[in-house]
Amino acid sequence: MGVLAGIDVGGTKIAFAAGDASGRLLATARRPTAGSGDGAADVRGLIADLRALLDANAIDPRSVDAIGISVPSPLDPERGVVLNPPNLPGWHEVPVRDLVADAFGVPVFLENDANAAALAEWHFGAARGFQHVAYLTMSTGVGGGLILGGRLHRGVMAGAGEVGHAPVEWDGEPCSCGLRGCLEAYVGGASWTRRLRRIAPLDSAVVSRAGARDAVKPEHVVEAARAGDAFALAEMDRWNEYTARGLVSLVFTLAPQAIVLGTIETAAGEELAFAPLRARVRERVWPALVEGLAIVPAALGKQLPYHAAIGVAYEGLRG
Ligand SMILES: [Zn+2]
Repeated sequence: MGVLAGIDVGGTKIAFAAGDASGRLLATARRPTAGSGDGAADVRGLIADLRALLDANAIDPRSVDAIGISVPSPLDPERGVVLNPPNLPGWHEVPVRDLVADAFGVPVFLENDANAAALAEWHFGAARGFQHVAYLTMSTGVGGGLILGGRLHRGVMAGAGEVGHAPVEWDGEPCSCGLRGCLEAYVGGASWTRRLRRIAPLDSAVVSRAGARDAVKPEHVVEAARAGDAFALAEMDRWNEYTARGLVSLVFTLAPQAIVLGTIETAAGEELAFAPLRARVRERVWPALVEGLAIVPAALGKQLPYHAAIGVAYEGLRG
């Protein structure tokens, strides 16, 4: 395999990368996501920017074997088309894959962002070498992707692994997706932030670190919990409890070798998140299923978007 290139369309930033199958990055660039409202015009802009990145780094476009594209949206992987993207006006039914393939004359592969991130951590990050992996990211929402038997498991409309919307309370908190009691409604960054701004005690270290109650974010809970604040520790406890409920269903359904957790979880670290989570999961799952199970932080951090885009290209060629 020669050079792999990719584009990661994020909610706020777009990342462009060239690299190889070993995970080495040869060139990277990032710019804000500024949609024009015309999806096809936006895609032509992406093509021009990827071409510029290759030119600026003296990478001959003819040396590129495949291009991967990650989008924050449902999609039809058969047609290479984006469907009803929540944050990309004008992109519905835009044939992203074919537009990019026509421009570069190489195979192009399209994946949703959660699956692309799962591929990145599997090929280049914390889940290297495993055959059965569940990846979950707790950022604004809760996204997920599954590697089963050494392949990305897509399911219908590439929607497999959306563990964030499996219920952890049957008639629980309302979720941004319209359902109730979803895992995301308890541990997603946006819903947790709303809860904290409603209930954080004004005399807690969480509020004093944030400066004001309406400025509180999950990161302030992590900092205050590290310093021993009682409210913050109770919030972490609640967070771990609900995350564990999500993981227990995953373990019984998939019997994975590794569960990789990103963002809030990775920031909270071993003592506040991973150790208590492993203990809770162990209490609720048969020993044989947890004996060899690794529950580990994501490894790619801020480089994730580059590796996600290249991971999609790599997986596409492998397939
Ligand atoms: Zn939901």
